[in-house]
Amino acid sequence: MKTRFAPSPTGLLHVGNARTALIAWLWARAQGGVFVLRIDDTDTARSQTKFIKALQEDLRWLGLDWDSKVHQSARLTHYRTVIDGLIARDRVYPCYESADELALLRRAQQAQGKPPRYHRDSMSAQERAARARAGARPHYRFALSPEPVVWQDLILGEVSFGGHELSDPVIMREDQSFTYHLCSVIDDVDMAMSTVIRGVDHLANTAAHIQMIQALEGPPITFAHLPLIVGADSRPLSKREEDVSLAGLRELGIEALALAHLLAFPGGLAHAELMPDTAAMAERFELSAWGRSPQHFRLEDLHLLNGRVLSQRPFRAVRETLMMLIPGADPIRLEALWDIARENIQTQQDMIGWWQIIEHDELPLQGLADVPPGIGADFLAAAIELLPPEPWDEKVLKAWIRAVGERTGQKGKSLFGTLRVCLTGRPDGPNLTTLLSLMGRARTHARLAACAR
Ligand code: GLU
Repeated sequence: MKTRFAPSPTGLLHVGNARTALIAWLWARAQGGVFVLRIDDTDTARSQTKFIKALQEDLRWLGLDWDSKVHQSARLTHYRTVIDGLIARDRVYPCYESADELALLRRAQQAQGKPPRYHRDSMSAQERAARARAGARPHYRFALSPEPVVWQDLILGEVSFGGHELSDPVIMREDQSFTYHLCSVIDDVDMAMSTVIRGVDHLANTAAHIQMIQALEGPPITFAHLPLIVGADSRPLSKREEDVSLAGLRELGIEALALAHLLAFPGGLAHAELMPDTAAMAERFELSAWGRSPQHFRLEDLHLLNGRVLSQRPFRAVRETLMMLIPGADPIRLEALWDIARENIQTQQDMIGWWQIIEHDELPLQGLADVPPGIGADFLAAAIELLPPEPWDEKVLKAWIRAVGERTGQKGKSLFGTLRVCLTGRPDGPNLTTLLSLMGRARTHARLAACAR
């Protein structure tokens, strides 16, 4: 089994093509196959070295590696040789229409209620010859044969296209540059790809590509087309303005493992068990879990998963990032905070707020509205009066809360919840007694006093 991921380096890697890369990688690893990274950089005007570099960093970040890497730009003379051979066999033919003429042809076909389509008969042989004689520069198309193309898709089952349903694809432009189609197929055949996994937006391309594979006398390739990936509003992700690049998600504090889990399982959050890395995911990966229904990509789901991933991370795994987010933090206190707060955060950035709660005198008391009515001066006075001397630990603080409860007659939420809101400004969060032992007596006292005012 051999497959590839073939990005065009004309922009940053986004969620859509990262999914294609991930699924192809998982399937290759699940099958003990070979995974190739192929850089589709024949479009020299739009391809950029910085994007080639960025996409490799993004793939590595996601937890993917590759057994080899090919740049299409290094194979241009070879493509030309193969194309010349197909021209000689009349499977590739020159076309002379201008963009305006093609648009006119499309409109005429639409006016007759026909789908817009181009094939060899769209221009007469005499006209072609006349234009060639007049020195017009041609572009080239691959001549599709009229026989239907049928294949067993690994995801979609049987797919078929009538040979006449599709336009003959342009494979070389007037300036002799190549379009994606034939170069991709030449590579897939030369590099003996057994399997091609890509988005369902390539479905019609596949029908043409299968005929190209046959024209090149390559062995059959198995295709798998992943469903559309849509946003929370059910619109295709690729059609939206929002930045869903991997770099953008990383900036938001998204962990690669959370993203990988969301993308690898069509049911998203339904997959209850978190795996430690992409290698472990590959052991459990099944292409047959995929179907036709669009896959949903919601940032909220990603944040929830991110929180689950972080809750399992030991401090040493996050130390470096946290120290960057909270410069000058005492690592011992930070670790103690991490151990209780990691269950209550969605991104590592959320730790900044918890750090402020234990380290800063000023508290954003936005949660005070949550103090149950009827809890007032008496309650806070008792809490202050009973506050034990340091050193503080779990036992001392539990005893204190119990004593406050006994003195004031409050329990449950009106005891714990009220203390929490007064002391942290939030209605929920990490273990309160540990948080308070990190906060210390002076700050705890000051907060209770501030609440009483
Ligand atoms: N460069 C193509 C793309 O990014 C590759 C598609 C394919 O996998 O064949 O859409």
